[in-house]
Amino acid sequence: MAEDCIFCRIIKGEIPSNKVYEDDKMVAIHDVAPAAPVHVLLLPKEHTDNVTTAAPELLAYMLGKVKTIAEQTGIAEKGFRVVINTGEEGGQTVNHLHIHVIGGKALGWPPC
Ligand code: AMP
Repeated sequence: MAEDCIFCRIIKGEIPSNKVYEDDKMVAIHDVAPAAPVHVLLLPKEHTDNVTTAAPELLAYMLGKVKTIAEQTGIAEKGFRVVINTGEEGGQTVNHLHIHVIGGKALGWPPC
């Protein structure tokens, strides 16, 4: 746990969140500023900064849960987007690894 990390504080329950999934390794919460009708963030319980610092096994585990989250939030059938912003130029604003799962409407591309 990182004391000043907002996602660690959410995981500890110090900051409220709207959870859609939880197990021993991760939680999934609704994004506070959704970019689409469904916008969920998958967060590992153990702090790691981003995709470059995370163990490959953890990344595989979290990506393996995307289907469950997509089904649970009703976006699996029509399709959705999975995004991992990484570092300053990658648009990462919270330095705790998180996987965005975004859907519920037709999404534009490219994102830049
Ligand atoms: P990123 O820009 O990839 O680092 O994404 C960070 C995401 O965290 C943004 O989509 C924010 O809207 C979201 N966010 C920030 N604070 C909270 C919070 N307290 N609860 C839920 N989502 C949050």
